[in-house]
Amino acid sequence: MSQSMIAKNQRAEMTILISAQATPQERNAADELLYYLERMTGACFSIETHACPDDPAQPVIALGQAAAALEFELPDDLGDDGFIIRTMAPHLVIFGGIRGILYGVYELLEQFGCRFFTPLCEKVPNCLSLALPQLDIRQVPVLEYRYHNYKDFTNYPMFSVKSRINGPVPIPEDWGGHLSYAWFVHTFEPYILNPADFFDDHPEYFSMVDGKRLSERPQLCLTNPDVLRITIEKVGQALTAHPEHRLISVSQNDWDNHCTCPDCARIDAEEKSSAGSLIRFVNAVAEAIEPDFPDVIIDTLAYQYSRPAPTITRPRHNVCVRLCSIESCFTHPFETCDDTSREVKRPDGSTSKFITDLQDWSRISDRLYIWDYTTCFAHYPMPFPNWNVLKPNMQAFVKNNVKGVFEQACGAGGGSTDLNELRAYLLSKLLWDAECDYEAHMIDFLNYYYGAAGPAVRAYIRALTDAVESRNIHVGFNDPCDQPYLTPDDLNRYDALLDQAANQVRQDPIRLTRVEKIRLSIRWVRIKNRAMLENRRDPAEINAFFEDWKAHGLTRIDEWVSEKKTHKALMRDVWRGTDFLENWWEDGPEIR
Ligand SMILES: [Zn+2]
Ligand SMILES: [Zn+2]
Repeated sequence: MSQSMIAKNQRAEMTILISAQATPQERNAADELLYYLERMTGACFSIETHACPDDPAQPVIALGQAAAALEFELPDDLGDDGFIIRTMAPHLVIFGGIRGILYGVYELLEQFGCRFFTPLCEKVPNCLSLALPQLDIRQVPVLEYRYHNYKDFTNYPMFSVKSRINGPVPIPEDWGGHLSYAWFVHTFEPYILNPADFFDDHPEYFSMVDGKRLSERPQLCLTNPDVLRITIEKVGQALTAHPEHRLISVSQNDWDNHCTCPDCARIDAEEKSSAGSLIRFVNAVAEAIEPDFPDVIIDTLAYQYSRPAPTITRPRHNVCVRLCSIESCFTHPFETCDDTSREVKRPDGSTSKFITDLQDWSRISDRLYIWDYTTCFAHYPMPFPNWNVLKPNMQAFVKNNVKGVFEQACGAGGGSTDLNELRAYLLSKLLWDAECDYEAHMIDFLNYYYGAAGPAVRAYIRALTDAVESRNIHVGFNDPCDQPYLTPDDLNRYDALLDQAANQVRQDPIRLTRVEKIRLSIRWVRIKNRAMLENRRDPAEINAFFEDWKAHGLTRIDEWVSEKKTHKALMRDVWRGTDFLENWWEDGPEIR
């Protein structure tokens, strides 16, 4: 029996079949499959809505509902994102949910050796003949919500689809759509009750701290019945105005000052957690909203003071808790880091570890999401040696029944350095499958994106992780650059490895540019530490850094301020541009 072929000597041997009633997602999936098969083989493929009338045995790649024509039993347990790829020789079937049908096509292309590394770097093999492989693949992701906020994914929504990211990036419905929040985070003040409008008449709406109601940087008093009534009204209004959203966040502002009025404090003491009054409040909102919005999930944060789980109340079935790892060390897995200074206090003064909080929330939640951190937000270029924790931490989330993960990343409008193209790729792979072959994906990326420099770049990454692991250095989300893994000796070692990398690609200008982009991290740490620790500032060197920074299209260096303010801070004895501001958020969103 001869081997079935998809293409033979630059001629198509199979037809792409879709149903006459194909969904827009199935049509787009067929177009994508056709485009890449043609790119690979140079053959011309066609998309048909009926099997060839002259030759019903003509082999087809049947997408979505068209698979019914091949006596493929259409499954109903794949959800929106799952898919099946099955060879039914001489045919092939790809079937999936609203996003799964697209993911199935990209999976098939990856089986053929295609790689979607970045929006501007795809690997597509050339092969004039392509055999039909024997495939029986079924993938349904554990995580229903998969998101990181690198700007590439917002700027190129099609790349998000290829990366199987389905969080709040603007993916059109025809391309599978995405899960979005009506209100995303820290919503008490901006969306529910602003003290500027309400404090004078109703100080009792706001949190009591040290016996006083706060007008500046308050939380809400969550046992006040009017606060509950107003919150329910506003949530209802927001959902009525935006029925497309599945999630809405009713969550604390981004500071502490939680209410310690007698009623709130009594509940939090009973619950052994300041999440006690919060979850009872959010449950009440969720219960009131449910009859009118049965498909909507009310989100809240377990963040800082509310991180430990309550001991009595469980989140309702239509409540989602997003547990935040902000205090954690990101150089050791959550399960093994021994830094006890990162524990969070309960109302009785005892403390708990992040991993304990994760396990506690997991036990009481139907739907638990995570907000995790993957860069240094004070100094985006600083090498962030979290390469060996991304996988074990994702495994810990999945093991503890987490259903959604947001990996907060460098969200600068101009993109980022510190190998974040690779980090984004690996995070996408882990969000889809926490058990994926992480090292193989890393090598795959490095050897194409950096070409011949790949092994030296791998050695640079290993030098960073070896340094923090062998010296047990803990690194947080917001640390300055004078870290013990960034001493002058360390920087010389890292530079030498990047020299080796650069030497491998001297004749390959695109890849050489990518290597030099990595080096911006080392250059940044050198000039920052010289300025801050040795009071040495060479304007020529500093200006050259900023010139190259911009030449790579990069913008912000710090999550919260413009690169101008960062530049100014560098010229003075100031660690961060935010130090010029009274409140760190005052510069507002990036304007380019
Ligand atoms: Zn209160
Ligand atoms: Zn640690």
